[in-house]
Amino acid sequence: MSSYAERAVAAVEERNPHEPEFLQAVREVYTSIEPVLREKPVYESEQILERIAEPERVIMFRVPWVDDAGGVHVNRGFRVQMNSAIGPYKGGLRFHPSVYLGLLKFLAFEQVFKNSLTTLPIGGAKGGSNFDPKGRSDAEVRRFCQSFMAGLYSHIGQFTDVPAGDIGVGTREIGYLFGQYKRLTNEFSGALTGKGFGWGGSLIRPEATGYGAVYFAEEMLGTRGDGVEGKTCLVSGSGNVAQYTVEKLNQLGAKTLTMSDSSGFVFDPDGIDAEKLAFVMELKNVRRARIAAYADKYPRAIYTPSSGGDANPLWAVPGDLAFPSATQNEIGGKDAANLIGNRVIAVTEGANMPTTPDGIELFRSADVLFGPAKAANAGGVTVSALEMVQDSMRVQWERGEVDERLRNIMRNIHSSVRDAAERYGHSGDYLVGANIAGFVKVADAMLDEAVV
Ligand code: NDP
Repeated sequence: MSSYAERAVAAVEERNPHEPEFLQAVREVYTSIEPVLREKPVYESEQILERIAEPERVIMFRVPWVDDAGGVHVNRGFRVQMNSAIGPYKGGLRFHPSVYLGLLKFLAFEQVFKNSLTTLPIGGAKGGSNFDPKGRSDAEVRRFCQSFMAGLYSHIGQFTDVPAGDIGVGTREIGYLFGQYKRLTNEFSGALTGKGFGWGGSLIRPEATGYGAVYFAEEMLGTRGDGVEGKTCLVSGSGNVAQYTVEKLNQLGAKTLTMSDSSGFVFDPDGIDAEKLAFVMELKNVRRARIAAYADKYPRAIYTPSSGGDANPLWAVPGDLAFPSATQNEIGGKDAANLIGNRVIAVTEGANMPTTPDGIELFRSADVLFGPAKAANAGGVTVSALEMVQDSMRVQWERGEVDERLRNIMRNIHSSVRDAAERYGHSGDYLVGANIAGFVKVADAMLDEAVV
């Protein structure tokens, strides 16, 4: 007879047949928590796996907007409120043409366990739109954001659901969204995080995910008496997470060789130092241009356009540490094999689910330190939750204080994940540890709160 996890996966597959990313995430979590399901049969009798994969609520709405030439467009807006057992819903908004309900269900599902790992009282959600901000003017993005918030505002709030940024949603978009929320509700409250520092934001929030990923890598390496100092690093992406991953790596004495965007990647044999990173930040955050311009500015760097093949040449560059920080499923089996062939020591997921299941299996069998997203990139939501605390208290903490709290929480996440893996007989397996530690807290809260 099959196990409870297998039966639950089959039921979720039957119910959500056209949502591959969501099914991938559910399968990964359910198969890795089998030891805990065996230990506590009440999870099955109370149908926890069936309930935890079903969003508590899905909001889907029309987002009409007008471009600069007067043309009318319509996009789809979503908010997946997945689980509020341990606190108000919390999770980012993604604006990207690939957004559809199944993608957001995967991200919301992952968010539930990630938020649980932070030790802070936050449930899990995710939202966004298939709107593509690329090539759009500020005025178009502003009109889109205002229309998006008109559809969403009545479903969120500081005690209900607190969205943040994600791909395509940075400080500019959060500003437009917050302004509209405030206008519609006549209330200045912390209903969004990632706000500007002058109007309720937290210091270190922009840096948090990237810094947190590097802190997590440092902890993993520490278990082998090692550290990031002196290491060569491969970073993908050139957005928020990638930028601050590189900044922290530089601060800790590592050398980053690569960054990328959806058009291609740059390899800089001299390393992307602070001055070059400032160029990338200006390029991406202000000029909103392509990473290819890096190689024009720094001629020793080599630019390789994306080929769309089944292996990404970025992961074939020799390096000690890999930080996938762009998007889901960006490290496949061939990429993992290339990294292992080049003796990668650790892979730390800055993006959400950037490694495919076969890639993960290869890292496991090669004994590569593997920091799964829900633990390694939890720094962003951690500081978002600290932003909620500061908003409620009407205070703003110093940069050093927030960074210290982030550092401690990443250290605690690392040790609770490690302990959970060890307790259930999977010593050193951060994926199993993260899934178990994240799951148990939410599942037990669901038991306490009964069938709701
Ligand atoms: P940004 O929008 O700031 O940057 C995304 C980067 O990834 C860009 O360089 C972008 O390139 C690239 N990218 C996006 N989609 C693709 C794709 N399909 N193929 C190749 N490259 C792509 O997003 P963030 O840095 O905020 O997010 C990156 C990842 O980190 C996501 O998985 C997100 O869910 C995750 N994350 C983010 C957190 C945060 O605090 N921001 C918190 C936790 C996780 P281009 O410019 O060409 O689009």
